[in-house]
Amino acid sequence: MLIDSHTHIGTILYPVGKNRVSDLPGEDLLAALQKYSIDFALVSSIESAEFDSEGQLAPPEKQIPQLESFRRLVQFVQTDGGISLKALLWIKPYTEKVTPELEQFITENREYIAGLKMHPSLSNIKFIDDRFCTCLEMASKFKLPVQVHTENDGLADPVYIAEMAVRFPGISFIMVHMGLNTDNDEAINIIKDTDNIYGDTCEVKSEKVIEAIIKCGSEKILFGTDAVVNGIDTYAKYMPLVDLIRNTFSKEEAENVVFRNCMRIYKVMV
Ligand SMILES: [Zn+2]
Repeated sequence: MLIDSHTHIGTILYPVGKNRVSDLPGEDLLAALQKYSIDFALVSSIESAEFDSEGQLAPPEKQIPQLESFRRLVQFVQTDGGISLKALLWIKPYTEKVTPELEQFITENREYIAGLKMHPSLSNIKFIDDRFCTCLEMASKFKLPVQVHTENDGLADPVYIAEMAVRFPGISFIMVHMGLNTDNDEAINIIKDTDNIYGDTCEVKSEKVIEAIIKCGSEKILFGTDAVVNGIDTYAKYMPLVDLIRNTFSKEEAENVVFRNCMRIYKVMV
């Protein structure tokens, strides 16, 4: 069994800037899951990115309203009868608000929704900002885990997630990338010291993934890849990591990382 806790679909209508992708067809994700025998995946839509990679706000007429994107995403995960996919709703705190319509949508589609996704860097808001607090209050209310992009850019820094994890002890926070473009040490220490913070393997060097599992415990790290940001063969890079995890740790520890943690934290039944 292999579960990817971090994948994307979606089509962005504005120029996204350097080192970003704007078109991730759902068919490509389904093809990738099939090709690499991934049993289950959590998916969010990149359509909720509010800023481009230069830090410019996307033109309002080119932004896709979060609810419109969420409706399409839930429909996408339903195409497979909800068996192999569940949605993470990527919230847009800069341009939109938590509304009664959003809460009603979550209530009506709860069985297809595993959690929320928050991306401080692409929302251009510090994670400790009040606007994220409002979203986290909603996460608490619906008992939804929160997948957060982490990167030391003054917006998505692991220390900010640590601060919010203290303020919201009932929420499980999954720090994806464990501090992108860092040596991951700060993120690993935070995950080790904070009960309700977890990390994922996405864009993390293999030796650092192994170190994170040893230091934080196998129940704190989740397999995640950003598929299909690097195409259908995004997984080609990650299969050696899966083998390394299975060869380094006991069966139980390896299973925690490659599927059990995701099932437990996001309440996924496969
Ligand atoms: Zn991602």
